[in-house]
Amino acid sequence: MYKDLKSLTLSQLKTLMTDLKGKSFWAGYLFSFIQAQNVRSIDEITPLPKTFRQQLVATGYGISCLKTIEVLTDPDGTQKFLFERDGGGRFESVVLKDGDRHTACISCQVGCRMGCRFCATGQLQYQGNLSAGEVADQVNQIIAAGVPLHNLVYMGMGEPLDNLDAVLNSIRILNDNQGHNIGQRHITVSTCGIPSGILELAQTGLQVRLALSLHAPSDNLRHEIMPIAQRYPLREVLDAMRQYQRSTKRRVTIEYCMIEGLNDAPAQAKELLACLKGIRAHVNLIEYNDFPNSPFEASSRDSIEGFARILQAGGLETVVRYKRGRTINAACGQLGADRLQPKQD
Ligand code: SF4
Repeated sequence: MYKDLKSLTLSQLKTLMTDLKGKSFWAGYLFSFIQAQNVRSIDEITPLPKTFRQQLVATGYGISCLKTIEVLTDPDGTQKFLFERDGGGRFESVVLKDGDRHTACISCQVGCRMGCRFCATGQLQYQGNLSAGEVADQVNQIIAAGVPLHNLVYMGMGEPLDNLDAVLNSIRILNDNQGHNIGQRHITVSTCGIPSGILELAQTGLQVRLALSLHAPSDNLRHEIMPIAQRYPLREVLDAMRQYQRSTKRRVTIEYCMIEGLNDAPAQAKELLACLKGIRAHVNLIEYNDFPNSPFEASSRDSIEGFARILQAGGLETVVRYKRGRTINAACGQLGADRLQPKQD
């Protein structure tokens, strides 16, 4: 297996140039050809001397490239990209269209180890982490397909804080102005609630946004739907969010999937208000998207709107996100539903 140049930031490429006795500015050629011009082999980076290109290959370097297997489009304009990584393993990204603005929802793992019961990805066989290059390459391939991207959300398949090093490197790669120059404030990292990862993210100095998939206002209920909650009690997760907010001074987003009869009662909206006290947050109420064999159903729109009104009256900025991309299984929580193998056990 080769060492992937696509996973390296510009500053890591500069270090590599020093190690290989190349010129420092060659790092810029490598970075822009790989990340912005989407070349597939070292040999295509013609501004580099041929001998140096040969040296890179001889030292074991290569460039990974995702294969686009399929692109599906929903009547509402949502697109789902199915990618295959070198050596196999398929995963998906979604592009949401809002007027002329596009947001890509990208993946960081093939499958997910967190097993949230309301999420199709959580029911699949986990097949491993994506590298920084593979995370960034989703954006390269989507842009190469003619879709201009304005925002990125790490909310596709996988838990970003369970693959944090690769996710951080991919953010630095995608934010670089010699690459796609996607502003850090246009990037959101979403987590199911891993306190140590939240604190580590705060310390990186990156200006990205943080979203917490909360989905329940109490430990008991969270245990029922999110196995990770047994490891990290709500108090610990919310303390980490408060600490994150103290160090970054940024508002956070709370994701709350509305599931009928489970977490959508007015009393639970009040409980949610109480548990978010002291956190400057924006709440997204997501209309639940089911998948084959899903044990849950979506709340009625009346319940969702009633729940939103209680949060708004309590001073929480709240928006409702209705289903998008339903006909192609591209809605939130549906990724992988129609593509990867179900769990063996
Ligand atoms: Fe993993 Fe996120 Fe799905 Fe939970 S909701 S199983 S963390 S992809």
